[in-house]
Amino acid sequence: MNRRQTIPKELRYTVENFHSRFPDNDACLEQIKEQRFPGGVAICHKCEKPRKHYRVKGRTAYACETCGNHIFPLAGTIFEKTSTSLRLWFYAMYLMGSTRCGISAKQIQRETGVTYKTAWRMFHQIRKLMSEDLRLGGAGTPGVEMDEMYHGGRRKGGSGRLLGVDRGNKTTVMGIVERKGRIVAQVSPELTIAATSALVKEYVLPETMIYTDDAATYNALPRLQGMGYQHRRINHSAKVYVAGEVHTNTIEGFWSLVKRGIGGVYHSVSAKYLQSYLDEYSFRYNRRDSGNLIFAAMLERASETMSRKPSS
Ligand SMILES: [Zn+2]
Repeated sequence: MNRRQTIPKELRYTVENFHSRFPDNDACLEQIKEQRFPGGVAICHKCEKPRKHYRVKGRTAYACETCGNHIFPLAGTIFEKTSTSLRLWFYAMYLMGSTRCGISAKQIQRETGVTYKTAWRMFHQIRKLMSEDLRLGGAGTPGVEMDEMYHGGRRKGGSGRLLGVDRGNKTTVMGIVERKGRIVAQVSPELTIAATSALVKEYVLPETMIYTDDAATYNALPRLQGMGYQHRRINHSAKVYVAGEVHTNTIEGFWSLVKRGIGGVYHSVSAKYLQSYLDEYSFRYNRRDSGNLIFAAMLERASETMSRKPSS
């Protein structure tokens, strides 16, 4: 827990900060309203003009100053149909943003008295805010590392990983991380050469050096050289783990964080929900230098309507 004390003052957001900023549901609603409709100004569909809107007492609505037509800042957000208090949602986001390893539904159930089911659902919805669409690397960057992780089974060994091998009911996750930068981690139903190349093209900018181990999955990467990608491999099957710049230690560090979290905090995660947990870990990892202002980043997304991304 010493780690928390090392957060610089300007990057701290304490639980006292939280309570004084969001003392009640109204303060939370006002925050969402301001993010969506700054100053309460929104197009009124009746007036067909931008109009100022004022809070309707006792409701989550704001009324047009001219004609009284209502707007609903929570419409289309993860809070839309909730019967859980907005303040509890905010608090759950705060807790999720302030931990490094994750927080369990059990813990928030104990702390706030909501049912386990409610807590679990709330976390699942919040994780939907945490998926990101990134493109990594690019010219002049120190390169990316790419590696796979098997979830729900033993940690991969250094050798014997061949394409097409039956992995039982393990789920494969592919990860790509910038050195000293951001990560993308995706559940990848197929661990094929084609799938690997497709991921690179989707998430990595050309002119990037890609470091991998010597698994057959990465055999196609040299063929991407025509598109400006470069590729170096470390010979894990010969028990070589670092050769100068060539290693995959960054991504392996991320995998151990995920495994510790899923094993220690969540105990187990089914394949169906694995992606949303990966999104949660990636979101925090990508903001690890923001102290616990991660809550602020989550809050920013909370007012976005979910049509931004199809929910799974
Ligand atoms: Zn109006």
